[in-house]
Amino acid sequence: MFFKDIIGQDKIKKQLINNVNNNRISHAQLFAEQEGGGALGMAFAYARYINCNDRTEADSCGVCVSCLKFNKLAHPDLHIFFPTAPTKDTNGVNSKSYIDKFREAVLDSHYMSLSKWYDHIGIEKKHAIINVNDCNEIIHLANIKTYESKYRIFVVWMAEKLQYRAAPKLLKIVEEPHDNTIFIFITHDPNQLPETILSRLQFIRFPPLGRQEIKNALIEKYGCSREVASNISFQASGNFSEALNQYQLSQPEEIFYLFRNWMRSCYNLKTEEIFDHIDKIASFGREKQKSFLKLGLKIINQCLMLNYNAIDSLKHFDEESGFLFKFSKKVNHKNIIPMANCLNEAISHIDRNANGKIVFADLSFKVHKFFKEGSN
Ligand SMILES: [Zn+2]
Repeated sequence: MFFKDIIGQDKIKKQLINNVNNNRISHAQLFAEQEGGGALGMAFAYARYINCNDRTEADSCGVCVSCLKFNKLAHPDLHIFFPTAPTKDTNGVNSKSYIDKFREAVLDSHYMSLSKWYDHIGIEKKHAIINVNDCNEIIHLANIKTYESKYRIFVVWMAEKLQYRAAPKLLKIVEEPHDNTIFIFITHDPNQLPETILSRLQFIRFPPLGRQEIKNALIEKYGCSREVASNISFQASGNFSEALNQYQLSQPEEIFYLFRNWMRSCYNLKTEEIFDHIDKIASFGREKQKSFLKLGLKIINQCLMLNYNAIDSLKHFDEESGFLFKFSKKVNHKNIIPMANCLNEAISHIDRNANGKIVFADLSFKVHKFFKEGSN
């Protein structure tokens, strides 16, 4: 991540760059944002800039020894901490045990949301914390020599998840860090940080992104069409993580074809096919599974309107229109309400962390039953 990769937030970039170039780097900062403001990427761009051997006035060089290591977020003087939780197969985890997964997820998108992170490592959000082992590790690392750079930098993502009884351990090291030690805490909710830590941090507040900034970024960085980018930027409320989520779902092919094929298999009760589709759907994160079901609800709603001649033209691509016409013959007044209820119920189960495979298997057989009732 470079400063140029961060959408908007120009004032903050300028302030951070000035701090480095005027030798006024704060030893303990708090980046406070609402989700999707770019604070995580900014922390890494800033850390890279601080340790870059050949930085310019605007950004890091990208080619020095330090930058090459930052390309993989694997610089030995960069220490990253974030919420984790034990899974069924692992006990006693901490940030260190998940560091490869974290690098992989952030390098995929530094606008990763917390729920995306939980999905990525398959943990339940209620248990996730930055735990006492993490705090001990921070203290240990802060007390040894830097490996190869002038500065050792700690990035603590979602600092509000610091385990309550462990957080006080950090007080001393944050208040009186050794020379050339920098802490960057990132939070979505500063009020949840212990007051004793909060009072020791220099506060930088990230405003939500503007609609135009989100729209331009979707078009320029992701090749999104103007129309789609415009719609998404309107709905994203300044949150680029949400904008990306919606963009991925707005790509009709994957989701639409999967829904269509799944419905066909349910209709014909082709069990093997049904389970192939379920495997695919269950491999999505929870948010995407919910969006998949919401697409189903939207399609059912359109069938209802088609059945009552409430729409005379469909604004869809050909394949989608063709499917809708056929599907609307199978979804009628006999089965439409229970079918929609079932999809809504599945959404709330997914919301409560139910197992996706079980939810979609149950749903598949119910949907088959509804199709039969609709044709009687
Ligand atoms: Zn460099």
